[in-house]
Amino acid sequence: MLDVARVERDPGAVATILRELFGKFSIHLALEDRLLYPKLRNWPVPHLQAVANRFEVEMGGMKAEFDRYRRSWPGPQAISAAPARFVAETLAVLGALEQRINREDQDLYPSFEETACAPATQFGPFGTAASVRPVLSDDQLAKALPRAIEDGRIVPFFQPKFDIFRKRIIGFEALARWPDPYWGMVAPIRFIPAAEEAGLILALGEAMLAASCREAAAWDADASIAVNVSPHQLSRGSDFVAMVSSTLAETGLPPARLELEITESVMMEPSLRGVIDALTAMGVGIAIDDFGTGYSSLAYLKRFSASTVKIDKSFIDDMPAALDSCILVDAIIRLGHGLGMTVVAEGVESAEQVEALELAGCDIIQGYAIAPALAGAQAVGLLAAQGHEDKPPMAMKG
Ligand code: C2E
Ligand code: CA
Ligand code: CA
Repeated sequence: MLDVARVERDPGAVATILRELFGKFSIHLALEDRLLYPKLRNWPVPHLQAVANRFEVEMGGMKAEFDRYRRSWPGPQAISAAPARFVAETLAVLGALEQRINREDQDLYPSFEETACAPATQFGPFGTAASVRPVLSDDQLAKALPRAIEDGRIVPFFQPKFDIFRKRIIGFEALARWPDPYWGMVAPIRFIPAAEEAGLILALGEAMLAASCREAAAWDADASIAVNVSPHQLSRGSDFVAMVSSTLAETGLPPARLELEITESVMMEPSLRGVIDALTAMGVGIAIDDFGTGYSSLAYLKRFSASTVKIDKSFIDDMPAALDSCILVDAIIRLGHGLGMTVVAEGVESAEQVEALELAGCDIIQGYAIAPALAGAQAVGLLAAQGHEDKPPMAMKG
C-alpha cells in the first residue's frame, strides 16, 4: 500500500494496517532479543555462538530504534499533510527490517537450521514461519523437486560421529538438506518420500553420494563419511554397485572411508544380499540404520556383513531413566561387539545419555549432545579444531 497516491486516498486505512504489522514486528524483535539470541549464545556449538554474538552486536539496538519510530508516528491527518515524506520514512524502516530478516534467513537460521529443520519453523519471522512463509503444499513440492535436484540445490549437511573413548570426531553422516530461499529449509522427511514416489530418488541419491564423497575426500586424516541409501537404489543391483565404484574413483575417496547406511528392513530382503556383499568386497562399510525399529531379528545381524549397527533414537530417548531401554541398548551393544561390529547410538541429546552409553561400552555417539548436521565448511572447521590424533583431544560439552 505504500505508494503516495494510495496513502493520499486513505491515510486512515494505511495507518491502521501498518500499526498492526509493526506491532507484530515489535513482538518479533523482542522475542529474538530476549529469547533467541541469548539461547543461541549458550548453544554448545562454537560457530553458532559466534553467529548469535554477531547478530546481537549488529542488530541488538534495532528494537529500541524501531519502537521510537512507532511511538513518533503521525496520525492520519499528519500523514495526509505530507504523504511523500511518510512513505519515504516508512519504507526506510521496512527496508531495515527486511534486511534483518533476510540476513537471518540466509545466515542465522541456516546455521541453526539442523534440529531437523525445526528452528526455521520455531523462530521464523513473527515467531511462526507459517504466518509469513507460504506453506509448501505437496503439489508445489512435487513440482519444484526435479529442478532442485537437477540444479544441485539439495546438498549434504554433516552430522559428527563422536568416538566416546578417544573423545574425537571420527567421521560424519551426510544428511540431505534443501535450503530454499522462498520456502525456507525443506525437511528430508518431506522431500525424500516425494523423491521416492516421483522416481527421483536414484538421481537424488547419486547426487548426495557424489557431493558427500567429494567433500570427504578433501578432509584430512581419515575421517569417514556415512551416506544414507534408499531401498530403491539398492534394488538396482549391480548398477548401484557400479555407480558407487565410479563415484569413489572420480572423487578419489578411498572405499574404506565410505559407509553406506541401510535400514534394518532392507537388510532382511534376501535378494539384496548380493549387492551388500559386492559393496563389502569393494571395501565399503555397511551400517544397519535405525536398528531396533523393524523386526529386529537378531539373527539377521549375523547374516549380513555389516560393519556398523546404529541403535535407533527411540531407545536412546528413554535412557537412562527407563530400565528396559537401558537393558536393550546394553544387549545390542554386546551383541554388536560379539559380531565384530562398531556400535553407534543415534539421537543422543543429553549428558546423562552420553554417560550411560559410555558406561555401556557404546563406541560412537551421534546427536545434538555433540552437534546437529552442519554445513560443509563448519564440519571441516570442527575437524581442524580437534587437530590430529597425537594432539590432545578437543574439549566437548555434554
Ligand atoms: P536418519 O538416517 O535416521 O537420520 C537421523 C535423523 O535424526 C536426522 O534427521 C538428524 O538430523 C536427526 N537427529 C540427529 N541427532 C538428533 C538428536 O540428537 N535429536 C533429534 N531429535 N534428532 C536428531 P533428518 O536430517 O531430518 O533426516 C531424516 C531422515 O531422512 C534420515 O533419518 C534418513 O532416513 C533420511 N535421509 C536424510 N538424508 C538422506 C539421503 O541423502 N538419502 C536418503 N535415502 N535418505 C536420507
Ligand atoms: Ca541414517
Ligand atoms: Ca537412523
